[in-house]
Amino acid sequence: PSEEYENLRRRIYSNTKEIWYYISHEIGKLIADEVKVDALQAILNQVADRKRSLLSDQQKLPELDGYKEWRETEAANVSELVQRRLKHLQNPVDCREARKVICNLNKGCGFGCQLHHIVYCLIFAYATERTLILNSKGWRYNSKGWDYVFHPISDSCTTAYDDKVMPWPVSYDAKVVSLPFIDSISQKPKFLPLAIPKDLAHRIVRFNGDPASWWIGQMLKYILKPRTNMQKAINETIANMNFKSPIVGVHIRRTDKVGTEAAFHHIHEYMTHVKDYYDELELTHPVDKRRVYLASDDANVLEDARKKYPEYEFIGDASIAKTAATHRRYTPLSLAGLLVDLHMLSSCDYIVCTFSSQVGRVAYEIMQTNRVDASNSFFSLDDIYYFGGQNAHDRVVGVSAHELSFFGSPVGDLIGVAGNHWNGFGRGTNKRTNLNGLIPWYKTADHLVLYPFPEYKQVPL
Ligand code: GDP
Repeated sequence: PSEEYENLRRRIYSNTKEIWYYISHEIGKLIADEVKVDALQAILNQVADRKRSLLSDQQKLPELDGYKEWRETEAANVSELVQRRLKHLQNPVDCREARKVICNLNKGCGFGCQLHHIVYCLIFAYATERTLILNSKGWRYNSKGWDYVFHPISDSCTTAYDDKVMPWPVSYDAKVVSLPFIDSISQKPKFLPLAIPKDLAHRIVRFNGDPASWWIGQMLKYILKPRTNMQKAINETIANMNFKSPIVGVHIRRTDKVGTEAAFHHIHEYMTHVKDYYDELELTHPVDKRRVYLASDDANVLEDARKKYPEYEFIGDASIAKTAATHRRYTPLSLAGLLVDLHMLSSCDYIVCTFSSQVGRVAYEIMQTNRVDASNSFFSLDDIYYFGGQNAHDRVVGVSAHELSFFGSPVGDLIGVAGNHWNGFGRGTNKRTNLNGLIPWYKTADHLVLYPFPEYKQVPL
């Protein structure tokens, strides 16, 4: 399929959803104000039916257009190529002579945040053709270090010997560079997310609707390889769960996050989207049981959900949630539980979560590596997808619009986006005029940043 075809197909899909966000929000407000409640609810139900039918039909297009197998093969090939390049980078012929970048796993944050820290370091390594050395002694999730739980990120090169280490930013081409946290990096390189490699971009966009998270997922795929003991523990927990498709993953982030970095969301806010998913699925597939995999750091959520939604089957482990709560969090046991939750969430057919949480974003990124295209397989109640510390994320104006003209946005202008309000509009700032306002989301499209990463020609295609 051509890139234009793929972009058009995704645009129609996305904009069908945007019509729904607009109508459901506006009518929902009238209902909340108690204006002709029954009549409006009936209209809303009718529109919802039509929306599900449209989206369901559109999802069949890539199944039926004759390129299904091609996409699957291409997705596997490009992923394998990236993995081979990373392996090559991480296992230089002469470790002593190799240029290196050092990353300290001493960031005082949760596991999702630490994974993203390593992802940032690995992207830096890939972009600068330096082998990544991970220092993890005294790591908060296991004081013996990363390699005690996961396979090391290199088989053959794990030290910078006693070479001089220069902190980034470096003024000359130092042999060994150490990296700060991305949040405080100066001279932020343009190759950091959400940029993707130019030499692969035109291949990725032809099978995946969100190349930036696909690229980040590839880094996670390389990094996250549990050792035998850990893998066995994960497998044993999973074997005791009745995990069967269809299943929707729900991630509910509570405890220390609520009120500081994110708002509280009631269980029904998540379940509205779970119900919508199943109502749509039932148009084309019989659903024997509406299953939900529920992950949380709040031990009470599972029981509450089972009580409130008896028609659903909730799968999950309250003891995992218990050890995930703030005061027990940074232990090997809690890490094992989180790895189970991440594995399960990313194996679900669809995820409902809050992208303000790195756990939700990691689950989606892994999901992107588990299938050809997961870009329509989630709903985030709050943020749009992002990478903490990323470079500017813009949307490009695709249709001239009077709503946009007030802040001067002819076709082609770039708008730095702050978020989608899931009501048909998002907030953004025009990069040319610096004016800020509401943008009709459907009149803009994601602006993909292509960066000329090294092409690793020595690695076979
Ligand atoms: P964020 O704070 O949600 O952005 O994500 P972080 O990963 O940085 O920190 C949250 C930490 O809380 C995680 O690393 C886990 O230790 C714990 N946690 C949060 N949600 C869950 C969950 O659903 N399951 C488990 N097992 N742990 C969780």
